[in-house]
Amino acid sequence: MKTISILGATGSIGMSTIDVIRHHKDKFRIKSLQTHTNTESLFKLAVEFNVKKVVVTNEESLVFAKKNIPDGIMLLSGKEGLIDIATDDDVDIVVSSLVGAVGLEPTIAAIKKNKRIALANKEVLVIAGEYIHENYASELKNNIFPVDSEHSAIFQSLQGEKKEHVEKIILTASGGPFLHTKKENFKSITPQQALKHPNWSMGSKITIDSATMMNKGLEVIEARWLFDVLPENIEVLIHPESIIHSMVQFVDGSIIGQMGIADMRLPIQYALGYPTRIKNPFPRVDFAKIGSFNFFTPDTYKFPLINTAYKALKMGNIYPAAMNAANEIAVESFLNKKITFDKIPILIENIMLNFEQKEKLTLEEIIKTDTQARLEAIKWVQKNQ
Ligand code: NDP
Ligand code: MG
Repeated sequence: MKTISILGATGSIGMSTIDVIRHHKDKFRIKSLQTHTNTESLFKLAVEFNVKKVVVTNEESLVFAKKNIPDGIMLLSGKEGLIDIATDDDVDIVVSSLVGAVGLEPTIAAIKKNKRIALANKEVLVIAGEYIHENYASELKNNIFPVDSEHSAIFQSLQGEKKEHVEKIILTASGGPFLHTKKENFKSITPQQALKHPNWSMGSKITIDSATMMNKGLEVIEARWLFDVLPENIEVLIHPESIIHSMVQFVDGSIIGQMGIADMRLPIQYALGYPTRIKNPFPRVDFAKIGSFNFFTPDTYKFPLINTAYKALKMGNIYPAAMNAANEIAVESFLNKKITFDKIPILIENIMLNFEQKEKLTLEEIIKTDTQARLEAIKWVQKNQ
């Protein structure tokens, strides 16, 4: 029986994780859950799973939570609450499924405490991958299990293989909702259109990241640090059917990939159960129904953020953190209709390239960069609205 703590329990990944646990109550027990604003769902889940500790991070929601908390449940708040449930001695697995930079500190706290982490919150490795690689290499290698479907596929494809036999990683991408939209029409894309992903149902931030293909850029950086492969050995390949979740090519030319339906419960279950493959009743792939697989090289003229991410990765230091912060503001501003879709990559490059390299890459410098890049990006939005 493994005891689990879920950061971001009320989100898309959080709820899929809970559904996996619901199917395997004999194997997993939930110790603690966190939400930002969704206290009613949180309490319902706490009652269903007999959870004793919950965290509410949003100040206004906390007021409501204090008044309405069911008996016998401990209520924590803020960043301290997140760090508490990420480092709890009783917890075996921390599910890191917050969205964005807000997950950085609690996830680092879990890394330091040698916790097993099921990592969905890719922004953590984008912002601080280099720092974690330099300071917590063994925890990164041994304790972090990817939830992102592509990285789960790569992780599965690498089982039993030697690192020196890897030639390259082929990171597949659906291409998002605008794969066949002309660049001239990007300006008039509405949030509603961008929020409709062809294959996956996800939180709004990652759905917009998928529409701009920043998501694939973030995933290149995530793969760099999870598997210790150089950027030039990571290739992005469009595969609109989203059945091959990614592949590894070896030095003898052999390629191993992982396939499955587009359902996040699969990689989540693998990360929780590893090294065991747990039987489940989820739907299966029907190849005859799919008929064919397609592959294309990504169009980086239409989706320049893929190259921006490679650039940030090669520049290293604080640049990926600046890029990530600018992206978070760009996505929020697009959703609030303050900037048009075509401005997102322009904003990000602009902000990122205005930063200067730091002499030593510390966590403080990373957090400072995150804050500063957000402020700069907000100013940019105000000027370019
Ligand atoms: P969601 O937006 O659906 O959920 C985010 C969760 O974090 C919610 O529980 C939310 O609480 C909480 N949260 C949001 N803002 C804050 C904040 N400021 N402080 C504290 N908690 C906060 O995101 P997803 O589940 O889609 O994504 C989570 C992560 O997983 C992202 O990094 C994403 O890139 C990654 N990922 C997601 C996939 C997917 O299929 N969804 C696939 C692969 C990776 P509340 O409910 O109150 O808003
Ligand atoms: Mg992914």
